[in-house]
This record gives sequence, C-alpha cells and structure tokens, in this order.
Amino acid sequence: MMKLFDTHAHLDDGRFDEDRDSMISQCIEDGVSLILNAGSNIETSLKSVSLAKEYELIYASVGVHPHDAATMDDTSIDIIGELTSNPKVKAIGEIGLDYYYDFSPRDIQKKRFIEQIDLARQLKLPVIVHDRDSHGDVMDIFKKTRINEVGGVLHSFSGSVEMARECLKMGLYISISGPVTFKNAVKTVEVVKEVPLDMLLIETDSPYLTPVPYRGKRNYPGYVRYVAEKIAELKGITVEEVAQKTLENGKRLFGIL
Ligand SMILES: [Zn+2]
Ligand SMILES: [Zn+2]
Repeated sequence: MMKLFDTHAHLDDGRFDEDRDSMISQCIEDGVSLILNAGSNIETSLKSVSLAKEYELIYASVGVHPHDAATMDDTSIDIIGELTSNPKVKAIGEIGLDYYYDFSPRDIQKKRFIEQIDLARQLKLPVIVHDRDSHGDVMDIFKKTRINEVGGVLHSFSGSVEMARECLKMGLYISISGPVTFKNAVKTVEVVKEVPLDMLLIETDSPYLTPVPYRGKRNYPGYVRYVAEKIAELKGITVEEVAQKTLENGKRLFGIL
C-alpha cells in the first residue's frame, strides 16, 4: 500500500465541520499516512495543534498568513512561540507575502514575514512559505534573512524554473499542489521536471486547489495521490516512487521520525 504525506492542509476549515472525523478516516483508507495541518492565524494555529493532539497522523505548523498580517500585535509572536512547545508542531507557517489579494498592507506583510522567520531561526524550526505574486520580495527577504540557515519549503510553488533553482541553492524544498494537474500549468510542469526528486514535496492545500479530475469540488488529503501521479508522469517514474520519496523528504524537512 502506498504511503502519502500531504504536507499542507487546512483540516480545521469550516468546510470540514460536518464530516471531519469520517473524512480523516477516509484519508487513511486512501493511503495517506501523514498530514501537516498549517495554521494561518492565531485561531487556526490553535486548531492545528488540537487536531495534531487528536489524530496520530496529523502534525501541525503555527504562524500567521500574509492575509492576516495586519491582525498581528506584539503578543502574537509570543503566542506562536508558546504553541511550538507541543512536540507535534514541526514548522512556523504558513507565513509569507500575498500581493494578489493584498489583504494586509505590503509593508506590514514584509515586517511580519521577517519577524516569523526570525522566530523560526530561534526555535530551530523550518518555515512554510506562502508566495503569491510576490516572488521578487520573497527572494529579497530570503537573502536578507539568510533563509538557508533556517530551512523550509515554498508551498504550492507558483514561481518560474529560475526561481526554483535559486530556492534550491538556498536549500529550500519545493511543494507541488493540485494546479499542476490543470491544463494551463505550463510553468509548474517545467518546475517539476527541473527540481530533483529529493527536494520535492506534495500537498493538497485542502479544502482549496482541488486537482483534476475533481476540480471544483472540496479538496481533501486523499486527493494528494493525483498530484503524485502527475509528478510520476512528468518525471517518467512510478507513482509509488514519488510517494515514497516525498514522504521521506517531508519527514526529513520537518524532523518527523
Ligand atoms: Zn498558502
Ligand atoms: Zn495553505
């Protein structure tokens, strides 16, 4: 049986309130053996930790998404830091920049991104980075903060091959999500071909970004297999090999034994 690691999901989302427990049982039946539930603000970070306590296969990250950067105050960093005392919290995230929606002012997004990278450095945890339409500033901040000393992953990577190469030089992992299965995924297809298998992760970003053939429906971690299948097709290897390597990669990055 294939073992899959969905390295980025939001199972705390309200869209799972009706059937969370049976949905998670279904994930296990579908071969998902690990899930990292990503926090995106203080409330969902708390929920991520609760889910990790409740379910053996779930691990958590804690942090504040750029959308919510403007809601952070001076106590937020302390709360995030305290949440990492739970041993199932394996990363700071998701953090980063989002210039597509611009829900928080850009200067505040940058300030809170840098602060949370600094926290990750202190705590010796990797970061989970969200980057949408903000590639240039994300790369600048990576250089400025010496991200290579912190480690982490660009989740749902949407940059170019050139950017992927730069990230690899900094020791960062590249995580691929459902959109790689879309017909217009030209750039991401090139990225998958370029990035060595030992630096790739797979994710669903559930309940968002549902892959083909379920595009338009609610996403859930069991569908991570469609991401693995697409990567296998692009790299000319078996889906079992993609599943096994991405599982090992995720465990290595997040320090899961
Ligand atoms: Zn994200
Ligand atoms: Zn996410």
